[in-house]
Amino acid sequence: MANFINVILPIPLERHFTYGVSPEEAKLLTTGMRVAVPFGRSKIYTGLVESVHTMPPEVYEAKEIHEVLDDSPTVKPIQLEHWRWIADYYMCTLGEVMRSALPSAFLLESETLVLRNPDFDADELSLKDDEFLIFEALQHQSILKVQEVSAIIDRKNTLPVLQRLLEKKVIRLKEEVYEQYKPKLVRYVKLAQGYTSNDKLEELLNSLTRAPKQSQVVLALFQLVGNSKKPITVTDLELAGNSSKAVIKSLVEKGILEEYFVQKDRVNYESDEELSAIKSLNEHQQIALDKILQNFENEKVTLLKGITSSGKTEVYVKLMESCLNEGKQVLYLLPEIALTTQLITRLEDYFGGKIAVYHSKYNVQERVEVWNNVASEKSKAQIVIGARSAMLLPFNNLGLIIIDEEHESSFKQFDPAPRYHARDAAIVLGHFHKANVLLGSATPSIESFHNAQTGKYGYAEINRRYGNVLLPDMELVDIKEAHRKRRMKGHFSERLLEEITETLSEGEQVILFQNRRGYAPILECLTCGHTPQCPNCDVSLTYHQYRKQLRCHYCGHHTAIPESCQACGSLELDTKGFGTEQIELEVKELFPEAKVARMDLDTTRGKHAYEKIITAFEQEETDILIGTQMITKGLDFRNVSLVGVMNADALLNFPDYRTHERSFQLLTQVAGRAGRTKKRGKVIIQTYNPYHQILKQVSTGDYNGMYAEQHYDREQYKYPPVNRIIKITFKHKNYNVLNEAADWFCNALKNNFGGNVLGPEYPSVARIRNQYLKHLLIKMDKKESIVQTKRNIKRIEKSFNAVSLYRSVRVIYNVDHI
Ligand code: ADP
Ligand code: ZN
Ligand code: ZN
Repeated sequence: MANFINVILPIPLERHFTYGVSPEEAKLLTTGMRVAVPFGRSKIYTGLVESVHTMPPEVYEAKEIHEVLDDSPTVKPIQLEHWRWIADYYMCTLGEVMRSALPSAFLLESETLVLRNPDFDADELSLKDDEFLIFEALQHQSILKVQEVSAIIDRKNTLPVLQRLLEKKVIRLKEEVYEQYKPKLVRYVKLAQGYTSNDKLEELLNSLTRAPKQSQVVLALFQLVGNSKKPITVTDLELAGNSSKAVIKSLVEKGILEEYFVQKDRVNYESDEELSAIKSLNEHQQIALDKILQNFENEKVTLLKGITSSGKTEVYVKLMESCLNEGKQVLYLLPEIALTTQLITRLEDYFGGKIAVYHSKYNVQERVEVWNNVASEKSKAQIVIGARSAMLLPFNNLGLIIIDEEHESSFKQFDPAPRYHARDAAIVLGHFHKANVLLGSATPSIESFHNAQTGKYGYAEINRRYGNVLLPDMELVDIKEAHRKRRMKGHFSERLLEEITETLSEGEQVILFQNRRGYAPILECLTCGHTPQCPNCDVSLTYHQYRKQLRCHYCGHHTAIPESCQACGSLELDTKGFGTEQIELEVKELFPEAKVARMDLDTTRGKHAYEKIITAFEQEETDILIGTQMITKGLDFRNVSLVGVMNADALLNFPDYRTHERSFQLLTQVAGRAGRTKKRGKVIIQTYNPYHQILKQVSTGDYNGMYAEQHYDREQYKYPPVNRIIKITFKHKNYNVLNEAADWFCNALKNNFGGNVLGPEYPSVARIRNQYLKHLLIKMDKKESIVQTKRNIKRIEKSFNAVSLYRSVRVIYNVDHI
């Protein structure tokens, strides 16, 4: 009898792929093992065994596999079951889930490009013959295609040898991002080379007799160095020398002191470093913990709603501790790992070497290592912290899943497929593992709070800040009125300026929030009203003062700022609206003494840029931090007593059913950065519309009011959580084809679902990268069978694809679109 396997291939095709195997291979192979298989005329893919059987395919002759790549499964059955759920629920193929789950080192294929690894410095003699041939070829040629590799070693099947070379760190793959996980950078100072001997030091101190402050710092540094071998931070020196940053800076400028940065590597946590004791909970935290545990007893997913700085993290830590004591694995999901280095450090202080961080920006070796450590239940990966893709790791013995900041929309993958919501998919994962699941947030999503209200989820809350610090005092400032009375300086109201002045004079720090980067959104001609547009997208270009460019935030297109209007030639051009860059310039002018930093996409591109900004602010080297929503996420600064929201209206005027919920969450979170540890903080929200319901709710901390209102609206307009939605996007470069195709699909759907199909409509940006876009929305009653609905949609898609004109139109499903 002939033997066959069904294989999952990492491509967006729905069918099963059957290949022939020898009887020996059939005996060896089990579900979840990888095989190299030929595909089409010349491609080779890494596939995953789904099943081993003896039924030949009906319509084609099965090809033989090239080789077996594993001797034990890379993917576990429980993992596959979870992937299958994701593919079904989010309407994509299992292959697409596989591609996003497996580190690319596990997915070598004929299209892969291979580079030499410049860091490889081991002995060449340790390489086998075929490995050496490739190594040698890469000394002459920087990039090799897999086909070329095949010619070099005179063998068709190249994946195993490439796999070995990857493991030995001889090669790298082209598509990888080689940025290491961003380590924490701390600023240190030392005496410059020339001054380290005693003689020189004395000479130096003599030369500084007229600068007592400076000599005091030098002496203090000398003493600090004498006492310990530890590097000395600017802040330490400032304290010890009873001095100021300005004095230290002038010494650096004179070349007497030298500044340097040291990386605190978070990937390889030194296991011999001392761990901090886990804090004991206060009364409110303890009550919440007890409630959570009670719900876990009843196998209930539980929502913890705790106001900002109530100490939710310490509650998570207790749960994690007891899960570790049971010998089980913990998965801690975060919306965006790069923005939460503070939290990771905090958890490492408690759990040290038990923590593995999983990040899509990690290089391939690190990701493979985490994967393998999780698969073999190593204690160094007993706690996995990661953004959404971490839940696709090969857990075996998962006891606890924590989904921190569960309301964050970045938990939903937007592009490419699988377009899954990590919170929801993680809950399903927890179900498969019989693991406890905790969702945490200060501002829960309407969905989760709804689930808690209806009893589907358990619920616990903490309504006090730790240490009983009051929530910040919020003040709404009417800038319409202020503009009318000409009481604004640039974009600053008198009230905000007063508060900034006072805060700075008390030596405290300020955060200014403006959710738009760049200098100004658009450049406008004062004569004809023309604003420059992106040639590839239907959107105005954003004005960036610093680089003197107009940039498209959708496709990256950029040009120099024109001197005259391209439409009418007029020289009178002006900017409209404002972004972080403009605020930074204004602040520097208004507060020339203050040290100002800006954090947005433009200032955090470089390596470690984000870390430097955060650490400098943490160490109080910066007085005012200006930023976009990046600064709202989970940061815990001790000395920030004022938060200013430059313009709340920009958030509120967004045409989306979630706008109010999101504005409430964003403003509450940014406000929560103020006054976390000492005295009560202050928040100033500037707006043209101080009577807006959401702003009132934010300023009084009225989550329940916001929830009731939003829930009512969602009921009225049939949006989640009351209904389910599926968004379908059509994409094509030809406008007419797109329109016709979208109409066809929409009509077919309407015949099926009646009034519950909305559209097709153009989104607010209707062309991106020269592709036209159209959306339609299906709203489903929760009682309707989602399985049946999806089956109907797929059936319609089949007939759609039978029309040759439509075949080139991309159809994208987004289930539970947010
Ligand atoms: P949240 O995550 O709810 O915003 P955090 O967990 O960041 O709050 O706690 C806010 C601050 O209070 C942190 O600096 C934290 O170390 C401190 N804190 C919270 N709970 C305790 C506790 N039980 N004992 C000591 N310090 C605590
Ligand atoms: Zn003009
Ligand atoms: Zn563009």
